[in-house]
Amino acid sequence: MFTRPIIDSLDFARRGMETSGEVPMAELPRLADLLTDLEGKISFVLRGLVGRDGKPLLELKLTGTCNLRCQRCLKTLIYPIKLVSTLRLVSEGEIDESDIEDDEVDSIPAEKRLDVLALLEEELLLSMPIAPKHEPGECQMAVENLNRSENPFAVLAGLKK
Ligand SMILES: [Zn+2]
Repeated sequence: MFTRPIIDSLDFARRGMETSGEVPMAELPRLADLLTDLEGKISFVLRGLVGRDGKPLLELKLTGTCNLRCQRCLKTLIYPIKLVSTLRLVSEGEIDESDIEDDEVDSIPAEKRLDVLALLEEELLLSMPIAPKHEPGECQMAVENLNRSENPFAVLAGLKK
């Protein structure tokens, strides 16, 4: 069985800890709707650090591939994942600070028991294209639809004679 890594997020950041591993897509059920199958793996590196302003941060690096569903032909679109996100850990009561509105850095609650896979899943979901599509002309639907639409007309034409 795959063990879900759990970290004490603030402690992890302040001590500059690092954890890494590989996650099978099957362990990320929130992504399943976007995929044609659960093939593929995501490699992750999660690093704790303290920013220049003394704020605790997490840096998450993800690489891998997954099989997204093309929104035009509904067939598999192999999608390479290459993602680096920096996340600021925000403690309770700290939420109203004005400097939280930073475009480069997203904030997440500084959880004592942070589920690394849930975080990874969330970041992946945010990074996915809203409507993934093959390059124009590469859809498999083009060929299949032509065949499908030709046949009924051929049949009709045959009936008229
Ligand atoms: Zn397509």
